[in-house]
Amino acid sequence: MSGRIARASPWGPMVVADAHLHFFSQKFFSALVSQKPGLTLEAAGAQLGWQLPPHEPEKLAAAWVHELDRHGVFASALIASFPGDEDSVIAAARAFPGRFFAYAMVNPRALTAALPAAFADIRVACLFPAMHGYSIQDDCVRPVFEWAQAHRRAVFVHCGVLSVGFRKKLGLPSPFDMRFSNPIDLHAIALRYPEVPIIVPHFGAGYFREALMLADLCSNVYLDTSSSNQWMRYQAGHLTLREVFRHALEVAGSQRLLFGTDSSFFPRGWQHAIFEDQAKALYEIGTSEADARAIFSENLLRILGH
Ligand SMILES: [Zn+2]
Repeated sequence: MSGRIARASPWGPMVVADAHLHFFSQKFFSALVSQKPGLTLEAAGAQLGWQLPPHEPEKLAAAWVHELDRHGVFASALIASFPGDEDSVIAAARAFPGRFFAYAMVNPRALTAALPAAFADIRVACLFPAMHGYSIQDDCVRPVFEWAQAHRRAVFVHCGVLSVGFRKKLGLPSPFDMRFSNPIDLHAIALRYPEVPIIVPHFGAGYFREALMLADLCSNVYLDTSSSNQWMRYQAGHLTLREVFRHALEVAGSQRLLFGTDSSFFPRGWQHAIFEDQAKALYEIGTSEADARAIFSENLLRILGH
């Protein structure tokens, strides 16, 4: 790990790789804005309080590198956040080798056969079954897992509550279907592809127990810790981040948790408060330095073969 930039932490300098960061390219933003007749990029940017992304993905990538450097973050996922935007994250990752991992959203219902050729340069395919209206058990998902198995890639599957804040703010409908969001649905496919790492973000986003059940039964399932984890509100009693980590460490163990922030736009930039809160919670429950290193970077770097 020597030579990698690090960030101050309760354990001392810590190498941090963010497993969950959205790359809101101009292509993504234009596609979003086009969903509302009459809306312009400028008006949408003002409404959301977002800086307009530069046209070239390399420039947006440079802004993120600057941001990561400023916060002492070694590397980060970059998630292309609508199907068809994989070229943006590939260009970004190419411009800054070693700093970014290209993740891309794919809608398996729109695939005719295999994944697009560009996926040769994608590290993690991101599935949002509730958003695109399919079951993870459906045959349409097979090409994604076949790709991951053949090329030693990972698959990210969003489960639980899916609420896209910027869609609400812009008055765009979110016709999602929560029937397709239970981590339990992943059991059979996780067993069928035991070598494919499967990442469930936000500890299951409300399906914490189910995500843990899945992780307990399938050693290829990983949980990402990203976002402010507002789903804790759904839990009976008063669940704290400390309890979430304690429980997740007990069941999934330190080798299958991936730290993430869910950062996405500028000027907000990298969400350092998520790191501070999670590091504090982990430290307070007595997490060892070795386990913290695993969670904050080593697990992600290992499963992505970095
Ligand atoms: Zn996210």
